Amino acid sequence: MQSNVCKICRRMGEKLFLKGEKCFSQKCPLLRKPYPPGKSPQWRRTRERLSEYGKELREAQKFKKIYGLRDKQFKKIIKEVLKRRKQENVSELLIKRIEKTLSNVIFRAGLAKSRRQAKQLVSHGHFLLNGRRVDVPSIQTKVGDEIKIRDESLKKAYFKNILSLLKEEEMPSWLSFDKKTHILKVVREPKPEEIGVKIDIPLILSFYSR
Ligand code: SF4
Repeated sequence: MQSNVCKICRRMGEKLFLKGEKCFSQKCPLLRKPYPPGKSPQWRRTRERLSEYGKELREAQKFKKIYGLRDKQFKKIIKEVLKRRKQENVSELLIKRIEKTLSNVIFRAGLAKSRRQAKQLVSHGHFLLNGRRVDVPSIQTKVGDEIKIRDESLKKAYFKNILSLLKEEEMPSWLSFDKKTHILKVVREPKPEEIGVKIDIPLILSFYSR
């Protein structure tokens, strides 16, 4: 059955990977219906004419949907990032800021099948960040931080199963995971080209600079 999040991908016309395993399977609705909900199969995206504002808006919406951010939250992050535009590349700063949120790190490591699930796992208190139990998915991690699955949580079927499926070679190289100690480490800053989805960050920044 097609879920509402899949309709977001169909509206955007590209895979946003919001449903975990289903996104990598033949069950992805975008493969069978590569047109927006409510349009006919003959509809062609090339006929869709978007204004500059429309393009910026769409890119900002896409980004928020991928990372599960509310508008207020995202505006705050953009404001933070723009303040440092003179010191650093803004696109890189934005990606570092977003990718290193705790729930995203859990998702990127493969300890959750989707970002939504990663947020739930963090808010249920399954992880220790540098030895302290945390339950706020949006906490920022830093290079050198260590995230550990709590011993009590390791007894749960979910973690036994996900750890047996974990493929370290599929983990981005800015993270490392020790299967013996169950410690996940942020080893370096993530880069924009490593996020796996094409996002035009200058369009987003232009939208929020209007
Ligand atoms: Fe649904 Fe994932 Fe396919 Fe998007 S990429 S349509 S979320 S299955």
